Amino acid sequence: MNKLFLFVPAFWLSVTICHGQRFKADDIQKHINFLASDDLEGRGTGTLGEIRAANYIAGLFEESGLQPAGTEGSFFQPFQVMVSVEGNPHQLIGRNVVGFLDNGAEKTIVVGAHYDHLGKGFQGSSLSPDSQNKIHNGADDNASGTTGLIELARFISKNDVKEKHNFLFIAFSGEELGLLGSKHFVNNPTVALNKISSMINMDMIGRLQDDKGIVVSGWGTSPVWGKLIPGIAKKQSMRYTIDSSGVGASDHTSFYLKEIPVVQFFTGSHGDYHKTSDDADKINLPGEVKIINLIADLLVQLDAEPSEPVFVAAGNAHSGSTVSNFKVTLGVMPDYSYTGKGLRIDGVTKARPAEKAGMVAGDVLIKLGGKEIGTIYDYMDMLGKYEKGEQVEAVILRGGDTKVMKVIF
Ligand SMILES: [Zn+2]
Repeated sequence: MNKLFLFVPAFWLSVTICHGQRFKADDIQKHINFLASDDLEGRGTGTLGEIRAANYIAGLFEESGLQPAGTEGSFFQPFQVMVSVEGNPHQLIGRNVVGFLDNGAEKTIVVGAHYDHLGKGFQGSSLSPDSQNKIHNGADDNASGTTGLIELARFISKNDVKEKHNFLFIAFSGEELGLLGSKHFVNNPTVALNKISSMINMDMIGRLQDDKGIVVSGWGTSPVWGKLIPGIAKKQSMRYTIDSSGVGASDHTSFYLKEIPVVQFFTGSHGDYHKTSDDADKINLPGEVKIINLIADLLVQLDAEPSEPVFVAAGNAHSGSTVSNFKVTLGVMPDYSYTGKGLRIDGVTKARPAEKAGMVAGDVLIKLGGKEIGTIYDYMDMLGKYEKGEQVEAVILRGGDTKVMKVIF
């Protein structure tokens, strides 16, 4: 995961209530040790290590009594991915792991976490020098969130309560390559999207620092988060900061763009982020137990709400890591999986230059200021050249048509 945050002051809450042993540090350690072991070679999308992680997750979903909800009666939902390795494009198969708790309900709550990571550094986005052919274990990113997913699936399935909702647990592949697994899921859902009540995502929940607490994103995507989370955090004596946007650099974004209320949990970035040193021994186990307890409480209370959460389009996106290098941006969420010419737009942010110019999701930006856009990287290069207030011409493709628009940065 990679992101920029707009922090608001944290709330310090001092009541401590002990929760029996719903989640044990030993279990959490066991999952993280396996997922982040050198054996799995960093779980690069489409690699054998990732397949072995998928088998592990599916095995535990089955043990918890979940039904397979991938394709062809299996827990797996495969999809094709194009990856550039040493400059040459190659096709790989990523696979989401999907398990369903069927309570015979009308609506389903989705819980997700990505389980892929950077593998041996050949798929890009490592921050370690000389990263190729070195294992990136990704203990925090995102063996920690995957572990939360496994444990919450067990808890919800085995708690002897028949909830008012069904639950769909999804371990996403291809996140590090641009949210590809979650995007594939929302475009090929195995539970109809209009039956999905909300989506809870975990990406990097293994490095809790008590003084900083947890970052909760997606707060503005439904009033339900502000209604439920403060009380639960108080009970767990957990500090938190909020980020209202539904658009960020993890898989909740894909659901938000389909107008589903989302919330995402994150313990913050650190010096080992996307490096070969993101290892299991650096995980704060008691901290992670606390976070999983908090999310378990959230699932229980969300299920018990008298009505379904209302979706709110929470506009202020801070999407992606590179935005801070530019004086201007268009306010678009690029489609990282698009391999054609130009920049395909997955979403536009309210009241930003792209929206004001009339761009909509699905448009492909092919020219900006008279210069051709071949790839997303051309677009990023161009942004660096503009100043606030500058006016340029943009050319987009919509359906079969070419449209020219005036963009004011
Ligand atoms: Zn991540």
